[in-house]
Amino acid sequence: MTDSPIWRPFTQHALQARAIHVARGEGAWLECADGRRILDAISSWWVITHGHRHPKIVQAIKDQADRLDQVIFAGFTHEPAEALARRLVALTAPGLDHVFYSDSGSTSVEVAIKMALGYFRNRGVARNRIIALEHGYHGDTIGAMSTGARSVFNAAYEPLLFDVTRIPFPSVGREQATLDALEAACRSADAAALVVEPLVLGAGGMLVYGADTLREMRRICASHGVLFVADEVMTGFGRTGTLFACEQAGIVPDIACYAKGITGGSLPLAVTMCAEEIFQAHYSTDRSRTFFHSSSFTANPIACAAALANLEIWESEDVRGRIARLAAMQEERLLPFANDARFTNARRIGTIAALDLRVRDAGYLATIGPELYEFFISRGLLLRPLGNTIYILPPYCIEPSELDALYAAIDEAGDRFG
Ligand SMILES: *Cc1c(COP(=O)(O)O)cnc(C)c1O
Repeated sequence: MTDSPIWRPFTQHALQARAIHVARGEGAWLECADGRRILDAISSWWVITHGHRHPKIVQAIKDQADRLDQVIFAGFTHEPAEALARRLVALTAPGLDHVFYSDSGSTSVEVAIKMALGYFRNRGVARNRIIALEHGYHGDTIGAMSTGARSVFNAAYEPLLFDVTRIPFPSVGREQATLDALEAACRSADAAALVVEPLVLGAGGMLVYGADTLREMRRICASHGVLFVADEVMTGFGRTGTLFACEQAGIVPDIACYAKGITGGSLPLAVTMCAEEIFQAHYSTDRSRTFFHSSSFTANPIACAAALANLEIWESEDVRGRIARLAAMQEERLLPFANDARFTNARRIGTIAALDLRVRDAGYLATIGPELYEFFISRGLLLRPLGNTIYILPPYCIEPSELDALYAAIDEAGDRFG
């Protein structure tokens, strides 16, 4: 039975009939229609950065809505898109020279894959194979799903997914196996691009790996002429402690995808940025070399204005300080769990903390995620564990006492479910 015609994302309606009705958002909090308040400890699925309804972003949205709502982006342009593209090129490391707009992380990855294949085809090079990391996640459209890990989440669509070369995740002590596999994959004559989440694989279970490995991966790709595509959809805009995760490895990708936090999480917008040579491979009086991609809402002016306001906040407020303090607070609270027998793999990168609950009964593994979710929700906390992996990925405005409440609930969950 359902009380709404809505078909919700990643939801088994037979098991979860009702959704929580949210009426307002403020900072790190969601206010429900029934008056309940819920702490948004996963930034509303990893998008909210500064907190809900940052006043500067809200104002920018209002102002832009008063001027221009939407306009075709082929043959036309507008100031928010122009200004944002210039700012993004200035903000990212030298080498990402062009900005292609779209409206979701999945689409930004599709665009990246199409750019990579177009680059080789337009140069008459027969390379079309994608290389990807085990446990990777890049979105839910067909190309992004193909690039991501295969699981129950995409089993039904398997016949439509294209084949990719999968290399092992570089877990601690096994980094060399990853690099060797990448080297072998890059030697294949048809290798086109490595698509990778830098430093942390999000949906794959908040799996963290080192900047040294990332740097080596980038070097191997470059040495074989294989394009390096950084999917910074989740890691971008401060999550890992730096503005972009690639900064920590001192690398510049050939193609980079940003979405989620680009508008502070307020509106859907994505960009795929690329190196000059990728743009140049499409630059021709021959129309068949055009980059054939568009979304109806490419570079929506209101979303671009929200993203500009976000960048403004990064400049005018001490966002980096806030992130550093949040990282330190997470580290401090995570510490007691590092030697706690109920948990394993306590880990942190930047503002993100994660740990795995040791589940006593293996039969529990399939249902532990939803059970933990309900447990936390009943305490007014939005955490959405990935199986037995509990992670805290909060907006940067979260207060120390709010983090305390989260860790106290995790401690309690350890007793209840561990
Ligand atoms: C969320 C995510 C995506 C997909 O973004 P959507 O906006 O949900 O389409 C792609 N890549 C990574 C790494 C993500 O975390």
